[in-house]
Amino acid sequence: MTIPKELEKILEITKEQNTWRRKETLNLIASENVMSPVAESVYMSDYMSRYAEGKPYKRFYQGTKYVDEIETLTMDLMNQVTSSKFCDMRPISGTVANAAVFRVLANPGDKALIAPVQAGAHVSHTRFGTLGALGIEHIELPFDKENINVDVDKSIKMIEEVKPKFVVMGGSLYLFPHPAKELSPHIHAVGAKLVYDAAHVYGLIAGKAWSNPLDDGADFLNVSTHKTFPGPQGGAIFSNNEDYYKPVSRTIFPWFVSNHHLHRLPATAVTALEMREFGEEYASQIVRNAKKLAESLASLGFKVVGEHLGYTKSHQVAVDVRPQGGGAKAAKTLEEANIIVNKNLLPYDGPEAVSNPSGLRIGVQEMTRFGMKEGEMEEIASLFKKVLIDGKEPSQIKREVMEMRKGYLSVKYTFQDGEWEQKFSSKVIPMII
Ligand SMILES: *Cc1c(COP(=O)(O)O)cnc(C)c1O
Repeated sequence: MTIPKELEKILEITKEQNTWRRKETLNLIASENVMSPVAESVYMSDYMSRYAEGKPYKRFYQGTKYVDEIETLTMDLMNQVTSSKFCDMRPISGTVANAAVFRVLANPGDKALIAPVQAGAHVSHTRFGTLGALGIEHIELPFDKENINVDVDKSIKMIEEVKPKFVVMGGSLYLFPHPAKELSPHIHAVGAKLVYDAAHVYGLIAGKAWSNPLDDGADFLNVSTHKTFPGPQGGAIFSNNEDYYKPVSRTIFPWFVSNHHLHRLPATAVTALEMREFGEEYASQIVRNAKKLAESLASLGFKVVGEHLGYTKSHQVAVDVRPQGGGAKAAKTLEEANIIVNKNLLPYDGPEAVSNPSGLRIGVQEMTRFGMKEGEMEEIASLFKKVLIDGKEPSQIKREVMEMRKGYLSVKYTFQDGEWEQKFSSKVIPMII
């Protein structure tokens, strides 16, 4: 029998993907990361083919005894690294986590306040995304241009006037923490809830390099498990209040998921353990790297957003590349040099700029996980300069990028790093395919 052409093609392009993005590119998309080999080995397991609707030990299927065990253990580990009391692992993405919490807190026609889109709000917080699908009206909190953030004084007034059902903070272009601590007493005073969407910064929270929103008065902490938190793609919801957690947990199934993609569970559990062990070292290095990259880019002539504020407190750096032809062109040229970033609206762009925004959003978390430190951030900045300012041929810089990447091919901050390797590698389950 001949192998179908398409099968060969599928295998070939998957191999190309693995080689290109794992070994040859500088991956600087702020919402991506890489799992450790041990997390990947349990991800590629029989769980990926199974069903387990409902909660642990209360399933609608048979054959779930190990799913019950792994889900309970995962929730326990995730609560440990989040310093939280309640966790639900079933949202299959951050957007699904948001949908479940928003729907329980408000009915169609109700009002929610959100961080301004200029301060980084995610599409799921808006009428164009999940909030709109649920029929909930969104009103943006006032924006403080100087601080590139939510305006605290004006927001307090708005919260008192609007009396929303809930307020959402957290963002996708997220350089500086939104003022959860300052606003939460005012939110609670009008009977509203604070939902903190930490999709981007959850790994920094778990690594104690970002203030824990649950300590700052958030009633719900919604996350993605694959951005700065370097686990499999997925979502989770945390709360410290059982009365808030219960109605959400009761409705995730059947309102927002049926099965919850069970292979995420062991891989997330491994990642939680890695964060418990190495999270502080990893998160603090990310924040130092982002700051260093911002400073280096600025010193080479780039217009980096937020200079007067120290550029960034997260894993992200935002650069205004209008002098280099705008975000769309810059991102495309960088890709030709194997440097992967995304174009992004900057706080002063209008919505019409969406296809050619002023900026680039750069995230250092993945390359940090591959072991890069401040010195490498300086090198990356100089590669940006060669491509975008000096106008060097991208294909020529690509060779330099590939050469640089060769030194950073193994995932750090995991049990297979260094001395753990010998103790551990014989215990790792081989992928089943
Ligand atoms: C990425 C992101 C999400 C959505 O996460 P998914 O896991 O991709 O659904 C939600 N909120 C914010 C702020 C994000 O940046």
